[in-house]
Amino acid sequence: MKRETKLAMYGRLSGTPSGVAPPIVRSSTVIFPTLSALAAAKKEHETEEGSFLYGRFGTPTSDALRMALADLFGAKTAVLFPSGVAALASILTSALSAGDHLLIADNVFHRTREIADELLASKGVIVEYFSSKISNIRNLIQDKTKVIFAESPGSVTMELMDVPDLALAARQFGITLITDDTYSSGYLNSPIELGSHISIVSATKYLCGHGDVMMGVVTSSANASLNVKRASRLYGQVVSPDDAYLVLRGMRTLGVRLKRQGESSVALAHWLRRLDGVEAVLHPALKDHPGHDWWRRDFSGVNGLVTVIFKESLTPKIPNFIDRLKIFGIGASWGGFESLVLPCDLSGQRSVDAIPDGTVVRFHAGLESISDLIDDLEQAWRD
Ligand SMILES: *Cc1c(COP(=O)(O)O)cnc(C)c1O
Repeated sequence: MKRETKLAMYGRLSGTPSGVAPPIVRSSTVIFPTLSALAAAKKEHETEEGSFLYGRFGTPTSDALRMALADLFGAKTAVLFPSGVAALASILTSALSAGDHLLIADNVFHRTREIADELLASKGVIVEYFSSKISNIRNLIQDKTKVIFAESPGSVTMELMDVPDLALAARQFGITLITDDTYSSGYLNSPIELGSHISIVSATKYLCGHGDVMMGVVTSSANASLNVKRASRLYGQVVSPDDAYLVLRGMRTLGVRLKRQGESSVALAHWLRRLDGVEAVLHPALKDHPGHDWWRRDFSGVNGLVTVIFKESLTPKIPNFIDRLKIFGIGASWGGFESLVLPCDLSGQRSVDAIPDGTVVRFHAGLESISDLIDDLEQAWRD
């Protein structure tokens, strides 16, 4: 079955007549009719599917979402967290101990950098950033290297990496490869198939898709050395059944939203490229984008993001340009149905790679008409 079909069918209860969507089950305590039923639930709890033993472990609603995500990602296990950052912090602190060496890509999401620098380094993990332009990660691997962490395309600057090669190196040296795949959200590529052991995604973005839920998802392959289910249990991570329901509902339209928003971001990229004073437009589908060939090989499309670097000389003009936009909202995050714009100050967010000169502005194309979006940019740009 194609993914579009699966997205339309996830979460249905089989056997009995039921709605097309799973029920929202709210419960902390779960009551069992007999002790043997409790024993059976405990046993099922050890499997991938079962968790309805106590509210903290999950409900039939969150299980429906977990099963959908495991299938979409081609993963053995899917675990839910109350935010993408909660997922990143829980998994990284579970995977690494004092004395372990972490190789982490320089272009990771800035909160991931904070987790590495503040949570991990302070506990004695040796944190080493590597360039997004790295040609051979093997040159940096040490005896104590435990985890390689990558994000492709990278946050804001969107460099692509050769993830299958990172995966190959990780396997050669018995290292765990963890990737942040929020950009593709399990739809524009298949992180587990590309060789990631553990894939972390902010479901707040495209999986939810409607700007109204915070959630993180961790999927893992059968050969991952870290038990992600155990990691989430130890930290007591839980999501509400209402939020699980909303993310599964958002996933119904994941394919059509990404297709449409991807087309719009390409159109925005081409329009922005023609402006006077634009130093660079960063977008994986542009032929001269760093790692474009890897994007062609590993991805089936782009999402709604496009980053623009305006020349230094235009810096005074940019705040006024952004303030005059009527459709693009000024705000953090992305992945919802709405178009957004945000200046990104990258200072302190790169250790190895150069921070681009000029003003960096990230746009996110929502589901609005592309001609309205271009008109909005045009009216705001005119003096
Ligand atoms: C937004 C984001 C996160 C964090 O997710 P939250 O759900 O906001 O906590 C992690 N990684 C990337 C790449 C993101 O863009």
